[in-house]
Amino acid sequence: MDSSLRTRRGLLIVLSSPSGAGKSTISRMLMEEDPTITMSISATTRPMREGEVADVDYHFVDEAEFEHLIEADELAEWAYVFGHRYGSPKEPIKEALKAGRDTLFDIDWQGTQQLEYAFRTDLVKIFILPPSMTELERRLTDRGTDEPEVIDFRMRRAAAEIGHWAEYDYVLINEDVERCAAKVKAIVEAERLRRERQPYLLNFVRHLVEKPN
Ligand code: GDP
Ligand code: ADP
Repeated sequence: MDSSLRTRRGLLIVLSSPSGAGKSTISRMLMEEDPTITMSISATTRPMREGEVADVDYHFVDEAEFEHLIEADELAEWAYVFGHRYGSPKEPIKEALKAGRDTLFDIDWQGTQQLEYAFRTDLVKIFILPPSMTELERRLTDRGTDEPEVIDFRMRRAAAEIGHWAEYDYVLINEDVERCAAKVKAIVEAERLRRERQPYLLNFVRHLVEKPN
C-alpha cells in the first residue's frame, strides 16, 4: 500500500477570541498535555512584551521585514490586529500537514477566514468566549502585560471579534480554565477520529473481515 495513504494530514486547530479570553493559556495547557501538538509561531510587528521570548512567542519583525514576508509569499495568512500586523508562516504549516503533526493557531477571525480558503478540510475552528465583558476586562488588567489605554482599545474591539463567533465549528465559554482546556482536548481527539482522517482504516477493515481470527 502507498505509505502516504496510512498517514493522516495534520490538523490546523484555530483558537480565536477577544483579547484576554484565555487562548494563550488554553494553548499552553493543551500542549503540556499533548506534546505532539505544536504552536504556529506568528510573525508580528507588535513590540515584544515583558516576559515574551523572540521566536518562541512570536517572530518579532519590523515593518520592512513583514513587507518582505508578504512579497515573498511566505505567509499563509496575515492581518492588521490592534494596529499591528500579524501573520502565520506558510512553510511550517505545509510541513506539519504532510508529517501528520497537529498545529495550534492563536489568530483572529480575519486570519481564520484566510486559512479556511486555503486549507478548508484540515481546519478545526474553535471560538472562546469570556463569561462576561467585566471578567474579560479583569483578565486583561490582571494579566498586567498592557497599558490601560491598550486595554481600553482591546475592550473596544472585543465586541467586533465576538461578532464572528458563528463562523466557527465549536464555541466554548471559558469560565473555568481547566474545564475549558479539557473541552478543547476532547474536540481535538474527536476531530482526529473522523473517518476521513483515518486513511489506514481501509486496510485495517479489509484485514479484519478477510482474516476474522
Ligand atoms: P493577546 O491576544 O491579548 O495576547 O495579544 P496579541 O498581541 O498577542 O495578539 C493580538 C491578536 O492578534 C489576537 O487576537 C491574536 O489571536 C491575533 N493574532 C496573533 N497572531 C496572529 C496571526 O498570525 N494572524 C492573525 N490573523 N492574527 C493573529
Ligand atoms: P488571550 O491569549 O486570549 O489574550 P490569555 O490566555 O493571555 O488570553 O488570558 C488572559 C488572562 O486571563 C491571563 O492572565 C490568564 O491567566 C487569565 N485567565 C485565562 N483563563 C482564565 C479563567 N478561566 N479564569 C480566570 N482567569 C483566566
